Amino acid sequence: MIAWLRHRPVTAHCEADRWRFDPRYTQGRCPICGWKPEGAPDAPRWLAIANRWDWEMLGLLLLADVLVLLGLIVAHAAGILR
Ligand SMILES: [Zn+2]
Repeated sequence: MIAWLRHRPVTAHCEADRWRFDPRYTQGRCPICGWKPEGAPDAPRWLAIANRWDWEMLGLLLLADVLVLLGLIVAHAAGILR
């Protein structure tokens, strides 16, 4: 398995509530009092990567590619490209 995909337990301990939690699934905060541990990840790694990605721009580029492809098909069928 790829090393960065492997599940690694990340736990933080809130002293005020004596509560142990995984900050990746509580948006980096203690679910009871909202305390934010220093340097704790606020999302699972796959979600952090997915959030960084610009999905709308990717969709736009994909749409442009499809339109160019359709244009080439139509131009070929109409005999413009020989
Ligand atoms: Zn707390």
